[in-house]
Amino acid sequence: MATAFETGEASALLRRELAGEFPDARGRFGPYGGRYVPETLVPALDRLADGVKRWLRDPAFVAEVDAQLANWVGRPTPLSPAPALSARWGAEVFLKREDLAHTGAHKINNAIGQALLAKRLGARRIVAETGAGQHGVATAAACARLGLPCTVYMGAVDCERQAPNVGRMKLLGATVVPVTGGDQTLRAAIDEALRDWVSDPNGTYYLIGSAIGPHPYPYMVRELQSVIGRESRAQMIRQAGGLPNAVFACVGGGSNSIGMFHPFIGDRDVQLIGVEAGGRGPALGDNSATLTLGRPGVLQGCYSMLLQDENGQIQETHSVSAGLDYPGVAPEHALLLSAGRVSYEYATDDEALESLAECCEAEGILAAIESAHAFTGARKWAAGNKGAKLLICLSGRGDKDMPTLQRTLLKGKL
Ligand SMILES: *Cc1c(COP(=O)(O)O)cnc(C)c1O
Repeated sequence: MATAFETGEASALLRRELAGEFPDARGRFGPYGGRYVPETLVPALDRLADGVKRWLRDPAFVAEVDAQLANWVGRPTPLSPAPALSARWGAEVFLKREDLAHTGAHKINNAIGQALLAKRLGARRIVAETGAGQHGVATAAACARLGLPCTVYMGAVDCERQAPNVGRMKLLGATVVPVTGGDQTLRAAIDEALRDWVSDPNGTYYLIGSAIGPHPYPYMVRELQSVIGRESRAQMIRQAGGLPNAVFACVGGGSNSIGMFHPFIGDRDVQLIGVEAGGRGPALGDNSATLTLGRPGVLQGCYSMLLQDENGQIQETHSVSAGLDYPGVAPEHALLLSAGRVSYEYATDDEALESLAECCEAEGILAAIESAHAFTGARKWAAGNKGAKLLICLSGRGDKDMPTLQRTLLKGKL
């Protein structure tokens, strides 16, 4: 583990992160984050930042969020000991069960929190983007729950690939708009949702799905997802007799991982390890390993690590898991990488699928392919740290992945 706690520039960044100085007044996490947006967006972002400042820590608002989390989302989610994986890996393995949250993943924590905020800010309708459809489904559910009309932008290519999620969103009352411009996937959907928001920034609220985008989104999403790490930390102390030696989470846009890691950042002896999508391998275009293989740059309003070619062109990404398939990442992860507090690595498509199969077989849990990346990282780490206590964020369930699993793990077996 890097020695950022001790020396140098990295330790200065880490001290400031621990002191809660980030994001700073300009919305930056050290050099990362900020707002790289057209002038037309600035007033809407300013209003949103004011709203976040006013409400996010307001006791009545917090109570309202907590009540929805308890009564509708199903929190706290359990911390499950994983006895069979523990025996196989020679470690004590614990799973944080975000797969048991309503709609099947951690995304609902963010969706319901932002939808409640939107109401406080007087919004009359919600717009959202979605890639694989998981965030769209969570947002559609939260909007139905709170009686808010909801429009979800989704790349035309994704609409086809993820037809069941389009159906789920429609059943939940959302209008789904296929985006035929740009790359017809998540990136184009985000652009379209932003455009919709700017055309009516008072009546409309843009509910973003990960800890990305311009300030204050990365901060707000981290705050809403930190319930994962807060619960996990208390559950480890109560159920496992102490903090874990290492914590693992998969990193796409970075929301389940920042939510899991953030409450542990001050625990010096707890290693934090983010696992990205290594796809087919390390060549540009074959993966979504933004922090491991990328370089700094600006994408969708935010300065962070990016997958880009030598001319700064954003690269196509690949991952067997649609939820990790994004060329950017939360600016706070870029900071934690620079500060040496979190280490990042990747698991390939094949490794993740193997881990998914192992978890099914050993624990009777079908994890999302995204989450399976974290299991690969944990298994490898355990090999060199026998007897250690491991905590893995099981960010979602894998039922949604059946079409992919039929083409891969189950090929020739049905
Ligand atoms: C969307 C998703 C992810 C990736 O998003 P993050 O913002 O990186 O958390 C990971 N796991 C599951 C189950 C997802 O649905």
